[in-house]
Amino acid sequence: MIIAIDGPAGSGKSTLGRMLARALNLLYIDTGSMYRAVALATLETALDPANIEAVTDLAHRVDIKLEGDPDSLRVWLDGIDVTERIREDDITAMSSIVSSIPGVRRAMVARQREIGKRGAVMNGRDIGTVVFPDADIKFFLDAAPEERAARRFIEDKQVNPCATLEQTLAEINERDRRDSTRADSPLKIADDAIVIDSTGLSIEAVLNCMLDHVHRNN
Ligand code: C5P
Repeated sequence: MIIAIDGPAGSGKSTLGRMLARALNLLYIDTGSMYRAVALATLETALDPANIEAVTDLAHRVDIKLEGDPDSLRVWLDGIDVTERIREDDITAMSSIVSSIPGVRRAMVARQREIGKRGAVMNGRDIGTVVFPDADIKFFLDAAPEERAARRFIEDKQVNPCATLEQTLAEINERDRRDSTRADSPLKIADDAIVIDSTGLSIEAVLNCMLDHVHRNN
């Protein structure tokens, strides 16, 4: 079974994707961490992200591994554990820049199809529209920008004690704008997706709603 979860930043994809994968005993794949790994490799090799050929070539060459169960997923880039590093601000911003490069997307999508083919809960921006258009169930999670920023701010504070809610909101708005206006595989709702607006809802309420859809469709 393939369950696609798409949605903007801070919509709860990771938390709920993990919980859903655990409840259904499926592999959990966070595709955003793959674009984050490419962003880190771009910064580490001091590549100009405007150099589309070089970044595409890099995306094909780097070794990215996602390992562990849903609650303790670790991300490895060329043999180095980069799980914490890829959550830092510079990587977050760069990930939505490199992810707009079609060649980078093609390299990641091929890997995602390969890893997910035996069944998974996969989250991202284009899972239900591009990566697995025939996914068994597609969810599109959303929430008001202020609420998404407030959720993300709690995480941002842990990595950067100087973070402010205003900064987090501005960063989320800019990333959503870039992700939904890019030419290749923009963030959008698949025609057959179940849209859940979690504004004001608890995590448990959203999880129950998702599980309910899964059980009714299978
Ligand atoms: O999900 P996360 O916020 O970690 O993703 C980081 C960035 O990676 C997003 O802002 C987006 O630009 C990109 N991304 C994407 N397609 C996906 C997953 C993430 O373009 N399937």
